Amino acid sequence: SDKLLTVRDLQVRFGAGEGAVRAVDGISLEIDRGETLALLGESGCGKSMTALALLRLLPQPAGHIAGGQVLLEGQDLLALPEVGMRRIRGGRIAMIFQEPMTSLNPVMTVGRQIGEVLAAHKGLQGRAATARAVELLDLVGIPDPARRVDEYPHQLSGGMKQRVMIAMALAGEPDLLIADEPTTALDVTIQAQVLELMRDIQRETGMAMLLITHDLGVVAGMADRVAVMYAGQIVEQADRRAFFEEPRHPYSRKLFAALPDMDKRDRPLTVIPGTVPPLNQRFHACRFAERCESAWQTCRELEPAWLEDTGGRGVRCHLYDPNHPHPAAAAAVAA
Ligand code: SF4
Ligand code: MG
Repeated sequence: SDKLLTVRDLQVRFGAGEGAVRAVDGISLEIDRGETLALLGESGCGKSMTALALLRLLPQPAGHIAGGQVLLEGQDLLALPEVGMRRIRGGRIAMIFQEPMTSLNPVMTVGRQIGEVLAAHKGLQGRAATARAVELLDLVGIPDPARRVDEYPHQLSGGMKQRVMIAMALAGEPDLLIADEPTTALDVTIQAQVLELMRDIQRETGMAMLLITHDLGVVAGMADRVAVMYAGQIVEQADRRAFFEEPRHPYSRKLFAALPDMDKRDRPLTVIPGTVPPLNQRFHACRFAERCESAWQTCRELEPAWLEDTGGRGVRCHLYDPNHPHPAAAAAVAA
């Protein structure tokens, strides 16, 4: 099959016992070869923790995986010994982060940093590694790569550093690239260039992408499918086109409503009122109820179940559950 990654009921917790923070609370998703899945949501919804959990890189000592499965072509990554996991990281699954400066080593030339990935995953050393590093810098659109390969991160602009991060990620020729807000720290023009670059590389290499973002524009330009996260759960999943035609979850709809007008692009995003509830509790209500204009009694008494149609479109909301008809709908049926 084309299935590359299958995540089933993934649970990430910080701390132990009843007060543990359930940062990721039962995420399930699938990514096909060559496909881009966008994980969309506000910060603090568990998007980054989901990504880090897939690579078993959760912040220590408190963060841990409390349940679920992560299958890479059927191989359970959560059951691998750490040494096996090191071959997966950077080799089969690579990750790029929002802030390149936190992941680039300031005292090592970019060539040596790319060279470390090439040594670990491609067995390349010395001149062969340098030559390949130059090729990779060229591939990500860095001018004069033969000179740049000997430079240090501080000699590069923000956009260049992000391109170096992408080159490092590509060095291991991964099947899956996880990109966590890869362009958020860049200005709008550079952002567009880096996203286009990632699309081009994906077309050439056939790698799949898990793209973590809070930006609907990035989803529109990049994603094949989208999974919307809220308070540690996926609340909607759909093809990009279906999602943009008709977002179903009230949270998804708020994300669209918060989009700035095209002529007010320079203004800050409208913020959705309210905050994500604290995740150190067990929920006996919809997690979005306090911010939802459609909420009714049922929403405050019962967590909505995940409802999925045969086309793989899913939503977690009582509005779509025939077992819990909305009072307005029930009244219409009675009349
Ligand atoms: Fe809103 Fe109720 Fe749906 Fe939650 S379950 S999103 S509160 S309508
Ligand atoms: Mg994040």
